[in-house]
Amino acid sequence: MLDTPDTALLRTVAEERAALNVIGGKTVGAQSGARIEVACPSDGHVFASIPRSDAADVDAAVRAARQAFETGAWSRMTATERGRVLTRLGDLVAANRDELAALESRDTGKPARQGVADVNAAIRYYEFYGGAADKAHGDQIPFLQGYTAFTTREPHGVVAGIIPWNYPLQILARVAGAALAMGNTLVVKPAEDASLTSLRIAELALEAGCPPGVFNVLTGYGAEAGVALSGHPGVDYVTFTGSPATGTAIQQAAACNNRGVTMELGGKSPQVIFADADLEAALPVVVNAIIQNGGQTCSAGSRVLIERPVYDAVTAELARRFCALVAEPHDRDGDLGPLINARQAHRVAAMIAEAEAGGTELLARGAVADDAPAGGHYQAPVLFGGVDPLSVLAQEEVFGPVLAAFAFDSEEEAVRLANGTQYGLVAGVWTRDGGRQHRVAKRIRAGQVYVNAYGAGGGVELPFGGFGKSGHGREKGFEALMDMSATKTIVFNHG
Ligand code: NAD
Repeated sequence: MLDTPDTALLRTVAEERAALNVIGGKTVGAQSGARIEVACPSDGHVFASIPRSDAADVDAAVRAARQAFETGAWSRMTATERGRVLTRLGDLVAANRDELAALESRDTGKPARQGVADVNAAIRYYEFYGGAADKAHGDQIPFLQGYTAFTTREPHGVVAGIIPWNYPLQILARVAGAALAMGNTLVVKPAEDASLTSLRIAELALEAGCPPGVFNVLTGYGAEAGVALSGHPGVDYVTFTGSPATGTAIQQAAACNNRGVTMELGGKSPQVIFADADLEAALPVVVNAIIQNGGQTCSAGSRVLIERPVYDAVTAELARRFCALVAEPHDRDGDLGPLINARQAHRVAAMIAEAEAGGTELLARGAVADDAPAGGHYQAPVLFGGVDPLSVLAQEEVFGPVLAAFAFDSEEEAVRLANGTQYGLVAGVWTRDGGRQHRVAKRIRAGQVYVNAYGAGGGVELPFGGFGKSGHGREKGFEALMDMSATKTIVFNHG
């Protein structure tokens, strides 16, 4: 078939953006030479390509990380110096803010301003962990007469990070910041749908002074590179963010090597609105918490529980706001962009159709821009009311702009509904009653509970992680440094 001017242009663009893995300080393609095309979710156009790495590339990356760990060029560098490298990396990310934000937005379809917000959060992670590197220390323990006992924090060794496509810049930064601060070396596999900024950050890490082999990034499919990485015997610890099913597979692979894991597996997070809440403050936050990133956020507030006396008024106002929302291409910086790919768009549309077919009341549907490109993966935001607490819509992560509303009659029932899924990642509680704020926050089973707020400020400093199906281990904040290291106890008998 002859090239049309369009396909010829596309090929040139793809070739220009033929991104490479960063392994052992070098930029390389997959050993097989295979590549994966990268399409923009807003229009489906291919604009770049990434290496389709397999087990051989994973082996090379793990060996590079092992060698870098064993030489001690990183792990025995002073913690202060490691921190300076991370801080410099944050500065370089800041210096490349526009390029990284535009790339992230194009690669994931998120509105342009969200791309900027993600870069800013990444900068904060490198800054935070740069500053924290020399503040994580052990304890001296009172022990037997004639003995001195103390603990130190030791790096695991080679850490594998398997990350998803929804917030690559942020999730890479929280994984890399904590792992590198503690002296580990790193092999990261970003998601095949959104890898470009991770490759760029690994290049910037070299520029910031990370010794070769300390920060490796390779791209590829989960079933190939991901499987090879999570089961590689040279990996000492695995950290994963993504779906519960993949998390289970990764834990099984890591268990074959008896390796530790951190799992961040999403949620079905509730926002609980009591009748006395400041609704003017609450409702914009409730809407934003489900449409941000098109609802493709592990901590999306996907359930809203409303006290009966204000249920009708709150759902009417939410419906008004939902009807005004428009999904459109990322570069228009609208309310929300497209979903990541056709599979995700079909999955979300199927869950909406199933809820409707089951008789769940559809209270409002936003719009997709009339001129949104046909090749994009758009989903209008949807609000459901009177949802059956045992339905799929109430129990399962949709990972799209779909909010389910429920009514409750008492504090007791609110807590029961909030805790009524297998997940437990984040929750919001909206009430002016101080006693109730404390009681409900304490009783909700979630890794983070916000009172009269939700996901405030991104929360780089705040420990984050789940209960139950939402996973285990903690990322973010100082606490992530504990997951990314192990305690060593040293005992002296000095008589
Ligand atoms: P996924 O969990 O399968 O993919 C996440 C990462 O894991 C990617 O890098 C992928 O390549 C890798 N991976 C996939 N299978 C693997 C395996 N067997 N071994 C090792 N690595 C593997 O997510 P998905 O398929 O892109 O999305 C499916 C659903 O997961 C979504 O609809 C959504 O509900 C959920 N999800 C949640 C999050 C979150 O942040 N909680 C992120 C992405 C997706």
